[in-house]
Amino acid sequence: MPAAGTRARSAVPSTTKPAPIWHASPNFGPRRDGLTPTLIVLHYTAMDSAQAALERLCDPQAEVSAHYLIGSDGTLWQMVREEDRAWHAGAGEWHGQTDINSRSIGIELDNTGAHPFSDLQMAVLETLLPQIMSRWAIPPEGVIGHSDMAPGRKSDPGAKFDWQRLERQGLAAAGATQTTPAGISCENFRELARAAGFTADVPNETLLAAIRLRYRPWGTGPLSLADIKALSLAPNAT
Ligand SMILES: [Zn+2]
Repeated sequence: MPAAGTRARSAVPSTTKPAPIWHASPNFGPRRDGLTPTLIVLHYTAMDSAQAALERLCDPQAEVSAHYLIGSDGTLWQMVREEDRAWHAGAGEWHGQTDINSRSIGIELDNTGAHPFSDLQMAVLETLLPQIMSRWAIPPEGVIGHSDMAPGRKSDPGAKFDWQRLERQGLAAAGATQTTPAGISCENFRELARAAGFTADVPNETLLAAIRLRYRPWGTGPLSLADIKALSLAPNAT
């Protein structure tokens, strides 16, 4: 079992307002190579209750954690200090960078993945995100889903998560290009996906599934122009 970086304390000052319920997890360590957060990774817990998720995220045997957990009723817990490295991202990459745990703040949303996220929960997320973004100077482009950095391996926060709601408030960003591609090709698609941050070396179908989770979860069938346009900065380009 890896050693925890510093001993968990029963309470730490948190500048987040309103103050989260502090529920220390032993599952954390120091950020490596002097890295500070440049990303915020959103997850769903895939568990039946926030309490069950909280227990797992604080269980030394499970060796997983996140900085925050938001219950479906809007309860906000903090388990790891933002300065520390929580264990939520695992293997993957974003914009060619690995060790996402050292580069990010992890937020778990109490949701099985099969149902919509409650308005109370979204409202708390929308209060928390701008505070973290301001503390660490993280732009909207830095707010990503677990499936963005681990395509194929992870599918959270999933097709029920309302990314466009965050985009409208400047709490997440649309795609990466101003130009509308001339046609449908895997090369066009991969190039735009790479520019948007999806650099993981995965098959075309896996990449397409990840792009759809993020930008157009209603999309089905083979690669279409709409999938390519979804990577455009212009919102709702169809
Ligand atoms: Zn996750």
